[in-house]
Amino acid sequence: MSTAGFNSQNGTGTGTGTGQTYTNGPSQNPVALQQLPGVNYGMTHQSTYNPMQAKAPAPPGPGLYPSGPYQPAPPVSSYQPGPPLTSYPSAPGQSLLSRPQMGGPPPHTPPQSASPSPGPRLLPAQATPPPPAVSSSSYYQNPQQPMAPAWQYNTAPPPMGPPASMSAPPRGPVANHMNPAASLAATAPPPSSAAYSTAPPPHMSQSATQPPGPGMPPTSLHGYTQTGTAPPPMNPIAPHAYQPGRPAYGPPPTGPPPTMKPAPPPTGPTMANATPPPPKADGAVAGNGPQASNSYNHVDNKMAGLTQPGPPGRHLGHYPSLPPGYQNTSAPHATSNIHPAMQAATQPYTRAPQPYQQMPGGPGPAQLSSSLAAMSLQSSTPEALRVVNLVQERNLLPPNAIPAPTPCLTQDLQKINCSPEVFRCTLTSIPQTQSLLNKAKMPLGLLLHPFKDLSQLPVVTSSTIVRCRSCRTYINPFVSFLDQRRWKCNLCFRVNDVPEEFMYNPVSRSYGEPHKRPEVQNATIEFIAPSEYMLRPPQPAVYLFVLDVSHNAVETGYLNVFCQSLLENINALPGDSRTKVGFITFDSTIHFYNLQEGLSQPQMLIVSDIEDIFLPTPDSLLVNLNECKELVQDLLKSLPTLFEKTMETQSALGSALQAAFKLLSPTGGRLSVFQTQLPNLGVGALQSREDPNQRASAKDIQHLSPATDFYKKLALDCSGQQVAVDLFLLSSQYCDLASLGCISRYSAGSVYYYPSYHHQYSPAQVERFQKDLKRYFTRKIGFEAVMRIRCTKGLSIHTFHGNFFVRSTDLLSLPNVNPDAGFAVQMSIEENLDDMQIVSFQAALLYTSSKGERRIRVHTLCLPVVNSLSDIFAGADVQAISGLLACMAVDRSVTASLSDARDAMTNAAVDSLSSYRQFVLTIQQPGLLAPACLRLFPLYILALLKQKAFRTGTSTRLDDRVFAMCQLKYQPLVYSMLMIHPALYRVDDLTDEGALNINERTIPQPAVHQLTVEKLCREGAFLMDCGTVMYLWIGRNCHPNFLTQVLGVPNYAAVPENLYLLPELDTAESQRTRAFVGWLRDQKPFFPSLHVIRDESQLKASFMQNMIEDRTESALSYYEFLLHLQQQISK
Ligand SMILES: [Zn+2]
Repeated sequence: MSTAGFNSQNGTGTGTGTGQTYTNGPSQNPVALQQLPGVNYGMTHQSTYNPMQAKAPAPPGPGLYPSGPYQPAPPVSSYQPGPPLTSYPSAPGQSLLSRPQMGGPPPHTPPQSASPSPGPRLLPAQATPPPPAVSSSSYYQNPQQPMAPAWQYNTAPPPMGPPASMSAPPRGPVANHMNPAASLAATAPPPSSAAYSTAPPPHMSQSATQPPGPGMPPTSLHGYTQTGTAPPPMNPIAPHAYQPGRPAYGPPPTGPPPTMKPAPPPTGPTMANATPPPPKADGAVAGNGPQASNSYNHVDNKMAGLTQPGPPGRHLGHYPSLPPGYQNTSAPHATSNIHPAMQAATQPYTRAPQPYQQMPGGPGPAQLSSSLAAMSLQSSTPEALRVVNLVQERNLLPPNAIPAPTPCLTQDLQKINCSPEVFRCTLTSIPQTQSLLNKAKMPLGLLLHPFKDLSQLPVVTSSTIVRCRSCRTYINPFVSFLDQRRWKCNLCFRVNDVPEEFMYNPVSRSYGEPHKRPEVQNATIEFIAPSEYMLRPPQPAVYLFVLDVSHNAVETGYLNVFCQSLLENINALPGDSRTKVGFITFDSTIHFYNLQEGLSQPQMLIVSDIEDIFLPTPDSLLVNLNECKELVQDLLKSLPTLFEKTMETQSALGSALQAAFKLLSPTGGRLSVFQTQLPNLGVGALQSREDPNQRASAKDIQHLSPATDFYKKLALDCSGQQVAVDLFLLSSQYCDLASLGCISRYSAGSVYYYPSYHHQYSPAQVERFQKDLKRYFTRKIGFEAVMRIRCTKGLSIHTFHGNFFVRSTDLLSLPNVNPDAGFAVQMSIEENLDDMQIVSFQAALLYTSSKGERRIRVHTLCLPVVNSLSDIFAGADVQAISGLLACMAVDRSVTASLSDARDAMTNAAVDSLSSYRQFVLTIQQPGLLAPACLRLFPLYILALLKQKAFRTGTSTRLDDRVFAMCQLKYQPLVYSMLMIHPALYRVDDLTDEGALNINERTIPQPAVHQLTVEKLCREGAFLMDCGTVMYLWIGRNCHPNFLTQVLGVPNYAAVPENLYLLPELDTAESQRTRAFVGWLRDQKPFFPSLHVIRDESQLKASFMQNMIEDRTESALSYYEFLLHLQQQISK
């Protein structure tokens, strides 16, 4: 693993990494602070549809997500996606999409290191002050103040101006990675040079082939329009009208490539010379080039998170694996007008998405590639807008997984675009104006999985990370080169110099091909920050485990599983020679363990004064894992028996957390808490708030927000010290997850929940816990991370979803980042995107690897801009929309009420389909009409209404509900979708027809069935994949062959009640079934438990509750729901 990069001190820019500067200029990011009327339904920003304002905001309360006493702090406010929701005035008929006009200037001037860019377009932006409105209706009591003092970080942020990243995080490389010069520059008024520590190239061409004009020159980018003309507006009328129009956006005609940019430097011949550099060890310098500091180390498999090391030849990202044709031919299209960067990029990427196809831990590629294959460009065009009468056309589910829609970009752009598994937008065609967006009545937002395990990841070590001097965007495949010496930022349009070093392409070992650098050819790339970017070594990997050892905990038997699992995986904990570990146990007192080297055995130190917690021997509680491994192992072996006989029932969790925080504060790190009951002693003590008798009858659901702000406050303290808290809740009773969950939510941790965990009575839970722990101990981890999301000027990000702390308007503080975390953001269109054909989004995640490297992972997504409603609808991504709506509805449930959230979700479907009917369809016909791309929207909305998080009328336990809400907020979309709409397969008749073959295993691919009992039959066996749980339902008359060959039982009656494992029988049927189940599991980073159920099983109800299309006592059937929508729409 390379150590390059952090031996040195003081860095600079990276820190900038994600952020130094403010992204998109002041007017771009009013974000949460400002609360512009995001996706209002009104026609304008000051949407008329904004009664919200008038309505008093929901009482802040220490909401799970939003609010709380900390509310005033804008950063937190970003957790308050709530306001938008709350702001909805009336209960029924509300939509999630409208947001209150919060008014009020951003709390502080967005760090504006940006200087006015040369382009006229930029000027207006700068000149345009953020909307003035004073925050009369603001939810944030003092929007002027970025952070509430109570949990302000130690380091006082610069008063204003400077890039947010400079003030945050408070310590560690994140804070320090700026070199002094950069810092000065950043604070200096002429922001253009802010933080740009790299000296400009000694000489630069002054001859612009094209003056830095406003926005993109019509023909400049990627030319997905022909001959430089803007795409003809679609005729919003006849449905057929789009078809003529669409092709303009689609794949380029076979004729001459569309004009890309004025004068691309001829580059043909050099491309022919491109030879893949030999794979280098991490950190190795690429060699003989003029710029020795350039090295392209590729993926280190560890970092890439994969367990199986890739062949060395693949290390260089894509380069070594360039198709031979690429290397041998002279630049294809070299004579065309297409931007050379684009051309070059397209070649090696004919299967660009492939690198992302592999799911962690398992064979997945084949499956995904099949779905990707379906994403041909053409597929989205006419089909997306095919009119579907939902009431008539009932069987809408495609037999296989639904691929993400492909944006209407040229093939060249599309091939190089970011994988939808990493970066996805609810609308793959961005409306030109907010009023168009308002008219479409669909939410605009991004869904991200930024730290996803990738099988291939280009990693670049370079002393110069090229970024826009104005907005700090990382150079990416969607910038344009005006000539060899200048590139134009695709986010703010500033024209930047190409640094001298960037002129050398170590891939081709040639000079003068900046457009062929990996940075310009990969929409996902990782940089190892140059050494001078750090003031001090990044933090080591530090793991502290806090374990409940009360009587209740011992009863569950979890401790044994935990200790065993950690013993097995202790050498696989990510880290290096600096890795530290520590343990704290607690019941009514706090127990520390002295593991100092030299001791003959671990020494337990009990602190009973839980009111004023202190560390008995601060220096020997967190120890170097390598040096003290034996003591650690001794402790793990003895812990399970240590408390065997305890009768202590009290739980001082709050004090234990405070102690842990003290212990970790000096370094930062990961705090893993295992809790089995409601904390009932000392600070943070909670009382049961759930009345089981009220579950089914209550009109609305209470207690979705925390009972105390203790956990949130502590989480914010943790965040400030780069400590993330992961919560494992194993319990049989109510634990108030709504309160406890805050500890993870605001510290960027994860929550794991094992209801009714018991080592004897719930073997499926035990298995899941074991598998989850293994993944948890061994998965990749990033420390002291920050993530910033930038977007093209004119677009504005607001309201974030996930687990993090919003440090400034667009900077998320992530003390830890893990590969299983997802994020979502909502956006609005602040300025018309009139003269743009495409826009871009860039997420930059700066983190410290477990090996102590400072790294920056950058994802850039490019999408077309359209100006007609039909195009907007054609590009709708129904899964992304549903996922984002789910996040919004969670917030709404907490800040307003569950019924409010439910109404809003229904209205989202009504509104968008109404808009479609009103503005897109011209030939009015009876029925409930939807464009094909949205045909599943009503089904998903109904599924959400019946999802554990939002359903009513059933006896959903409060913690179960809250946990479902947490999952919807922080899981990557692909897993959320399974929670929302599980996949149902018939598995008693699996065949090899159409099967995948992965690693010489044959994986059957049964079709997905509708979720209705009509699809079940007594003769069959059906597998339902709900994400974290799977059910295998056995029909009463199930074919004997399945029972004997797969379940190993003679008949139906012999199927055991608690069966959670499929026996490994040596039959073709057994192998097929196990292969299929294993394959489904392999695609998830967590371990779904499997329950084999019969009609008599207790769990049958859980299985049946997922039959979304069926009517229940309290919920409409799908058909009834459609009629309801139809009625609403025709009103
Ligand atoms: Zn820029």
